[in-house]
Amino acid sequence: MTILSFLSRASRAYKEYPAYSKLLVLCTLSSGGLLAYSESGPDTGTAGVETDQKLPKKKRVLVLGTGWAGTSFLKHVDATLYDVQVVSPRNYFAFTPLLPSVTCGTVEARSIVEPIRNIVKKRRGEIQFWEAECVKIDAANKKVLCQSNIDNDLLQKGEFFLEYDYLVIALGAQVNTFNTPGVAENCHFLKEIEDAQKIRRSVIDCFETAVLPGVSEDERRRYLHFVIVGGGPTGVEFAAELHDFFDEDLVKLYPTVKDLVKITVIQSGDHILNMFDGRISSFAEQKFKRDGIEVQTGCRVVSVSDKEIKMKVKSKGEVSSMPHGLVVWSTGVGTRPVVRDLMEQIGQANRHVLATDEWLRVKGCEDAYAIGDCATIDQRKIREDISSIFKAADKNNSGTLTVQELRDVIDDIRIRYPQVDLYLQSKHLIDVTDLLKDDQGNDRKEVDIEGFKLALSHADSQMKSLPATAQVAAQQGAYLSRCFNRWQQCEELPEGPRRFTGSGYHQFLPFRYKHFGQFAPLGGEQAAAELPGDWVSVGHSTQWLWYSVYASKQVSWRTRLLVVSDWTRRFIFGRDSSRI
Ligand code: FAD
Repeated sequence: MTILSFLSRASRAYKEYPAYSKLLVLCTLSSGGLLAYSESGPDTGTAGVETDQKLPKKKRVLVLGTGWAGTSFLKHVDATLYDVQVVSPRNYFAFTPLLPSVTCGTVEARSIVEPIRNIVKKRRGEIQFWEAECVKIDAANKKVLCQSNIDNDLLQKGEFFLEYDYLVIALGAQVNTFNTPGVAENCHFLKEIEDAQKIRRSVIDCFETAVLPGVSEDERRRYLHFVIVGGGPTGVEFAAELHDFFDEDLVKLYPTVKDLVKITVIQSGDHILNMFDGRISSFAEQKFKRDGIEVQTGCRVVSVSDKEIKMKVKSKGEVSSMPHGLVVWSTGVGTRPVVRDLMEQIGQANRHVLATDEWLRVKGCEDAYAIGDCATIDQRKIREDISSIFKAADKNNSGTLTVQELRDVIDDIRIRYPQVDLYLQSKHLIDVTDLLKDDQGNDRKEVDIEGFKLALSHADSQMKSLPATAQVAAQQGAYLSRCFNRWQQCEELPEGPRRFTGSGYHQFLPFRYKHFGQFAPLGGEQAAAELPGDWVSVGHSTQWLWYSVYASKQVSWRTRLLVVSDWTRRFIFGRDSSRI
């Protein structure tokens, strides 16, 4: 059998028996190597479900967005139970933590995206995807207006309505310019794949323009001054990537201008990476100093033109300006117009993101859920419910709570109000009954309502909103799909805590975020990591940890292989500086 006929038979077999695609054997014929791996999806290849006429109509779950939150929901939801439909202007999922690496060609854009149709076809049941933008959510009539973003005369305006029984809003956020003059027109952003590709081309443009004959020294310096506004994880990682690109690759290709290159990070706070442990931000600042990356803290950008950036030094109030070749604006996120419009409809107009309860249900909007960057959980304060909790716990209506009575309800309190556990940890208390001790630390057998209020009311000081990260978004998507999958089961047998304001039990356990730590790559094969339990790790070994975590977190084996091969290519050949 020739190699060609073997390959064509193998490909036919793969298409005809998709169930066997669990085991994908990749023959690297050129090197004779053999690599086998299995797909991690729970059940692959069942492209559709047979519709049984006698079955009641399935409820429609409409998912808006295919980012971290939406994709995580789709990866876990049981699509045989619902009619699941997805709308997003991007027909792919993008692994955003590697976007800074795309700006300098460390990894290729296509290596970090996975077509959404690839992801949903591996699910049990059918999930329909529509490549379109949701332009309006009509919460009162439970439908959304969508507009196709494909430019085609046949589609006319390309508008269509989709009705829903349940809506999952996973629309993420958009860049926030804070209405700073000139930012929208003259800055680059780093939010989407296209942004990273545009930055990659513009960086090369700056170098190619700077070496043209007849360009003055001042102009060369301007073209080669790269400014990053925002000293958060994205801005810092981009600055580090850019420095490595220049230091390891471009310096050899553009030797005549190597002394003119400058990278500046402008940060409004006192330190870069100020959401990390202090040890990490000072390590990053020292490393940047050694690398020649200038960090200007305590400065607020007031305007940006095509050649100049103006900023105010907060302590002195002085406005200074500096010429630039390229500015990357990375200062935080804002609300998407479609989300803002919904917020106005449901009385949340004064907020930045949609408020949900602990079960991720949008407040004031029936059957709508919001996950990821577009939402925040409005955790209920224990102070608001303290009298109801006391009443529920005081079974014999004695007006006081015994230790045993408190023990009977404490698990429900801890689940419903997670701030109680955080408060106990912050006070180094082991047992919840420690809260009942008097001022001198003596055990009390009973407390009255005032004592109970005093013991628990400080717990609310531990409430923190969750960060806008991929970790939170992915966990929320997985949590919500689990609730949908167990809907009927939990309706009959609720799994949640008891209702203190009302009777019975909550259908589901509330969402709880588990923090697995966060990384900040700092360039030169060094990274910093903040791990659970206040662990801090910096240096070369942390960079290897970063490589392994980010490889393992890839959404598919295909992207995992592509990313690892991009890293290997970069180690061997360096980054590609072609402007394409
Ligand atoms: P997104 O992932 O932004 O997804 C939103 C989805 O909605 C997209 O599919 C979009 O196409 C779609 N959409 C937008 N408008 C519409 C519309 N009108 N109709 C329908 N669909 C629409 N987090 C970490 O935890 N670790 C990191 O290392 C990290 N690094 C990052 C690096 C960069 C450069 C960036 C930009 C972010 C990084 N983040 C990181 C943050 C993380 O990417 C976000 O928190 C995460 O993407 C939020 O997920 P999401 O699903 O809410 O939104």
